[in-house]
Amino acid sequence: MDPLPHVIIFPFPAQGHVNSMLKLAHLVSLSNFDVTFLVTVDTHDRLLNHTDVLSRFGCGFHLQALPHGISMDVMNTRDGIFILYNSLNQIAKPFLREFIVNMNSPVTCLIADGILSMAGDVAQEINLPLIYFRTISACAFWSYFCIPHLIQARQLPLKENAMDLTLTKVKGMENFLRGRDLPSFCRASDLTSPDFRIVMTETLQTPRARGLILNTFEDLEGPILSQIRTVCPNVYTIGAVHAHLKTRIATKSTSSNSLWQEDESCITWLDTQPSKSVIYVSFGSIAGLTKEELLEFWYGLVNSEQKFLWVMRPDLIIGQERKDEIPVELEQGTKARGYMADWIPQEKVLAHRAIGGFLTHSGWNSTLESIVEGVPMICWPRFADQQVNSRFVGEVWKMGLDIKDTCDRDIIAKSVRDLMDKRNGEFSERTEHMASLAKKAVNEGGSSYINLDRLIQDIRSMIP
Ligand code: UDP
Repeated sequence: MDPLPHVIIFPFPAQGHVNSMLKLAHLVSLSNFDVTFLVTVDTHDRLLNHTDVLSRFGCGFHLQALPHGISMDVMNTRDGIFILYNSLNQIAKPFLREFIVNMNSPVTCLIADGILSMAGDVAQEINLPLIYFRTISACAFWSYFCIPHLIQARQLPLKENAMDLTLTKVKGMENFLRGRDLPSFCRASDLTSPDFRIVMTETLQTPRARGLILNTFEDLEGPILSQIRTVCPNVYTIGAVHAHLKTRIATKSTSSNSLWQEDESCITWLDTQPSKSVIYVSFGSIAGLTKEELLEFWYGLVNSEQKFLWVMRPDLIIGQERKDEIPVELEQGTKARGYMADWIPQEKVLAHRAIGGFLTHSGWNSTLESIVEGVPMICWPRFADQQVNSRFVGEVWKMGLDIKDTCDRDIIAKSVRDLMDKRNGEFSERTEHMASLAKKAVNEGGSSYINLDRLIQDIRSMIP
């Protein structure tokens, strides 16, 4: 009997990366592949504690821990992502090499997170086919890729008074990308800073892989994907992966890849609310707020007089433990119209008929999950790719309001009211249209469906 293809999938240890790459692992394993999902010890234990990951997959799926000491809790500290990144590069690289070389079943291909170039180095050293997966949007990836052009044209470093000027050096975005829409790293005045360098070099090394998988779909990002294909010709757009997985396993229910305990009680609360009456609020798994920012959002939400469901992570306030006290002046409005939770099943929430809008930090997974469900967004990006995503939501896709770089209770209250009102007009046509294109992409004959089949064929052909 011919050996089964064996793929190792290796994500960066953060919720958004693990979530989408685990969905990819599931999609790949459906084609009768052996799949080893390789994660840090911390991620391994969280997945076992909070998900049914082992029972969900067939016997060809293996969850493996790579020895690595740092917990992802470090990420809510200043520069946490880079501390985690550096420690992975320094500590985990030799383990990765040894792990792959000593595997019982020969490895056909490594699918590594595109921000882990050390995995690419290992693949090259041992002559193993490599495919990268980037968990960000095509538009964010492309803006990272064009950073050298921006530097050459002296549009970077960004000048304080140039934040609203349109930039000309990111092809395909010449008419609408402003300084403030560039990835947050570009705001650094010092372009030699390690975080800026990492983001740029990790992206620029992508073309060495045999292919690039993106969690997006052609009808959403076609023009930018054409730009990316000029430097990485073999792009597999297979998204939105969470919707794609549901199609392939013919289910309407969501499979959780959560690294924290989900509070399901919010679903019971949503069940009691009228259709499209609730604004859902979340800043994702990493972004933090100052105490002042938190209060502006809180006042804004209460003053909007709309119902709201708010994920208030215990570590949401930068540098301090969240205390479960409601400011006195906000108590009545919060109790009457608000519901707070530490962490919720987001895909399920966004699919709930009671949700009418999403106040989001514009992380790519959250954005895609909202697009698939046709939920319009208010975007308040914090860092990395989020600034680019929010510009596309507001200006290009017209699926919501981009309020980046403001944090004012009156603006927030007005935006929430506008978004919820405009659902029946301005935004709903666009969001419903894009949601139907998203579904078309992952159904048989759709672009993402065809691209996943092509990916599977290509990996099969890599068996020596
Ligand atoms: N998420 C969740 N429960 C929550 C908040 C977020 O399951 O209470 C999930 C969400 O569905 C998404 C991921 O966490 O898949 C966040 O990823 P994203 O790329 O949006 O942002 P990040 O956390 O990477 O900043």
